Amino acid sequence: MSHTAEIIAVGTELLLGNIANTNAQVISESLSTLGINVFWHTVVGDNPRRLKEALDIARRRADILITTGGLGPTYDDLTKQTICEAFGQKLILHRDILEDIRAFYEAALHVPMPENNTRQAELPEGCTVFDNPVGTAPGCAFQCGGVHVLMLPGPPHEMETMLRRHAEPYLRELSREVIVSRDIMTFGMGESSVDELLHERMAHMTNPTLATYAKPYEVRLRATAKAESAEAAEAMLAPVCQLVRDTLGDVVYGTDVSGLPEACMRLLLERGMTFATAESCTGGLVAEKITALPGASRVYRGGVVSYWTDVKSAVLGVPREILDTYGPVSEECARAMAEGVRNITGADLGVSVTGVAGPDADERGVPVGIVYIGLATPEGTFCRKMDSGRRRRDRIQGIATNHAYDVVRRYLTGLPV
Ligand code: ATP
Repeated sequence: MSHTAEIIAVGTELLLGNIANTNAQVISESLSTLGINVFWHTVVGDNPRRLKEALDIARRRADILITTGGLGPTYDDLTKQTICEAFGQKLILHRDILEDIRAFYEAALHVPMPENNTRQAELPEGCTVFDNPVGTAPGCAFQCGGVHVLMLPGPPHEMETMLRRHAEPYLRELSREVIVSRDIMTFGMGESSVDELLHERMAHMTNPTLATYAKPYEVRLRATAKAESAEAAEAMLAPVCQLVRDTLGDVVYGTDVSGLPEACMRLLLERGMTFATAESCTGGLVAEKITALPGASRVYRGGVVSYWTDVKSAVLGVPREILDTYGPVSEECARAMAEGVRNITGADLGVSVTGVAGPDADERGVPVGIVYIGLATPEGTFCRKMDSGRRRRDRIQGIATNHAYDVVRRYLTGLPV
């Protein structure tokens, strides 16, 4: 049976714009992997009348309601009471939970439990209790008139812990089917071009489904299948992944990989190779992306942020004539930077980035958005010129960083750089 969920985030802070509704995002992502449709996100303030109205609307259009927030001990934390009134449930004190909360105060917070926390141990009669190992407010779930209501706390860390430990297993029980997804990662083609090539096929798919998501500077395709077993779902996904690869060709750089840096790391590890970076306009972003991954030290030797022309020549050994004749934003300079960093670090590959991130053109009139990526390898040196057009500085830096990794991954897989 297919289910439809509505997420109701409770908190006036959310309506005032003091905080973003990240809980809804995390819950939605989880529901999509469970194969549960989410058609509405609702945000309502700490106001029992309006929360009741939101619940009345939600229960008519969804059969799973998930609330976050308002489970605390203070009097503006009204979620539980209001839900119980709306669904005709009786709130009763759970003595074992009260003892858990008291123990949490004494062991983790080293203070006696304030008496108003007793309210947190009151939960609907007969509900499934979701304990909270990282905070005090327990959550719960109950069913009433064919609607499942799940209550989760507001603090994101507590919410997510409870979601993974309790809510996901509870929801999985509702639908005995297994949902498996594959993320097919692409770089080098815009979302609308990807969509144009696959739209006809995607529109007719129901199980498995295929959807495109624009990620920063790349496009992810998610294929999802529902079946009675993981093996059956995986067998259904294999032809979809193949279809995407056949249609999009070598812009597909991996499946179930977090991004281009990780794809490169895997390739370098397989080949027992290392690389080093020489960056100008990206200011260390290429280095940052690889060092964010555990195990990076096995493939990454180090890098130079050679922002000043003098640093390009003095540290990387870029010849003065190149800088004077062609300028620091040039193919010649990118090549020399890549070779320089490869020489000084002894890495197998040297990667360089030099360009104009803006907002103004450089002194030689090179326009914003022009970036050269150099790659020095044992077989020679390559260069890619990228023209992202006039965009925000951080976007140009982000795109250039992905181009740098794309150049590495194409070289390592034998594709033209
Ligand atoms: P507590 O026991 O801390 O009172 P609670 O379940 O009552 O928890 P709230 O008081 O509603 O939750 O929210 C606590 C904090 O959690 C908020 O100040 C905010 O920082 C964060 N928070 C609440 N709702 C959300 C949300 N939807 N997305 C992200 N953060 C949230």
